[in-house]
Amino acid sequence: MPDGLPSGTAILKPRRARPFFGRHPWVLDSAIDRVEGEPADGDVVDLQTHDGQFVARGLWNSQSRLRVRLYAFGTPVPLDDALWRSRLAAAVALRKSLGFDDPAGGCRLVNSEGDDLSGLIVDRYGDYLAVQVTALAMERRLETIGDTLESLVAPRGILLRGAERGLSKLEGLHLPDRVLRGTEPAGPVFVVEHGLRFGVDLAEGQKTGFYLDQRDNRRAAALYARGRRVLDMFSYSGGFALACAVAGRAASVLAVDTSAKATALIEANAALNGVANVTAETADAFQRLDSLATAGETFGMVVLDPPKFARSRASLDDALRAYHRINRVACDLLEPGGILVTCSCSGSVSREDFLQMLAGVAQRAGRTLQLLEVRGAAADHPVSASCLEGEYLKCVIARVV
Ligand code: SAH
Repeated sequence: MPDGLPSGTAILKPRRARPFFGRHPWVLDSAIDRVEGEPADGDVVDLQTHDGQFVARGLWNSQSRLRVRLYAFGTPVPLDDALWRSRLAAAVALRKSLGFDDPAGGCRLVNSEGDDLSGLIVDRYGDYLAVQVTALAMERRLETIGDTLESLVAPRGILLRGAERGLSKLEGLHLPDRVLRGTEPAGPVFVVEHGLRFGVDLAEGQKTGFYLDQRDNRRAAALYARGRRVLDMFSYSGGFALACAVAGRAASVLAVDTSAKATALIEANAALNGVANVTAETADAFQRLDSLATAGETFGMVVLDPPKFARSRASLDDALRAYHRINRVACDLLEPGGILVTCSCSGSVSREDFLQMLAGVAQRAGRTLQLLEVRGAAADHPVSASCLEGEYLKCVIARVV
């Protein structure tokens, strides 16, 4: 089969074509009636309506419920190396035009569906790139991706980081971490974010090493921190804690994470920035919130940035209960007029769900919550209007009266 042309056709069940005419890129196996040809995993396939109309072109994966990922709509262009190169170039050019090209900084260069590259994430940390692949089709094209990123960005090294274990399993992916191009950094890579320095562990850190999506939310939160005693729950490497302590001139910050590796990072990053009023504590957030409340402690600001509580719509109710619980205790800890910075990175919890949960917290706590800012991820994490599943991050800044 010539490069980029289909080796099969997936034919949709009657009345199932609408989302894909609407440019939604995920075709589940349950929408497909039958397949013509014998596409191998990773091959190009066309998507047709049950009566033979061309809808879109994508890549096949028999091992995933997400059977076809679509990359071209309306016009059957070849899904060849030239197309991947031009998509990557467009993604990199966008970041440049948005001003995310500080060589000492970090940014997301490729955001999956948000850059028409479903299943591919690329983060830049200074001179290094971290690549995460969540689609088998992208794994098959890693050489092209590596070559193109090398020529576009000229990094010192490109590291492949395994995706979340659950996601890899769903896609039939077996991708151990490895160096894709160039060399691996000897130790942490240092990046500057809004004037603060952070050490990023590219090889062992969470996600690709740092939570770039919260960059502008950390700065926004810091603007409310002046003179306050701040609690940064789920702090990881201390992003919110340091922004509040330095840029925000908080009186003091208590940063808590359940991972001892994370609290070591907080301490290292505090030292790196010459900050003396940040205390890092290794503890479980649920227990620590309760023990602070029992001890009658109060704060002028509480930041809650937990990991994904809802893995799917099925666990939505449990997740909302967990969000309710931590936000409820956070309100109890806040002095009158205190600031709550509360986040959710669960894609299956909608913005409305999250705001509803906060309304429930206000009711139970008997406090008025004034919403000051309802924010999302920074602009280097674009979301496709046709795939709102990509809009996972919510960050609400509220005043608790
Ligand atoms: N606020 C951070 C990112 C937080 S990611 C930043 O700006 O970079 C979520 C963090 O929650 C992870 O570091 C994880 O180790 C931590 N975590 C997960 N479960 C926890 C729990 N039960 N108690 C405390 N921390 C927890």
